[in-house]
Amino acid sequence: MELIIILLWLVLGFAAGAYAGRLDRSAVGWALFSLILSPLIGFIVLLALGPAQARRPCPKCAEKILPSAKLCPHCRTELAEGWAVEPSGY
Ligand SMILES: [Zn+2]
Repeated sequence: MELIIILLWLVLGFAAGAYAGRLDRSAVGWALFSLILSPLIGFIVLLALGPAQARRPCPKCAEKILPSAKLCPHCRTELAEGWAVEPSGY
């Protein structure tokens, strides 16, 4: 019986990590957080925090950067005002 609880704990902990990754947060960090504290707490905190500030791929190097960036931190491309605005945004 304990084994099932431990397995469930692990699965839910990693699920919380995967969910964090989808929110543009650290999947490994949140998986560890959930495994140490509780997967339930991990999910509740993630739901309360919501998604991280949405990042957009750089038009030159496709690395994800903040939409407010004026200079890509990866490829040093200067970005025009409103580069991240997409007509079919989500
Ligand atoms: Zn770039």
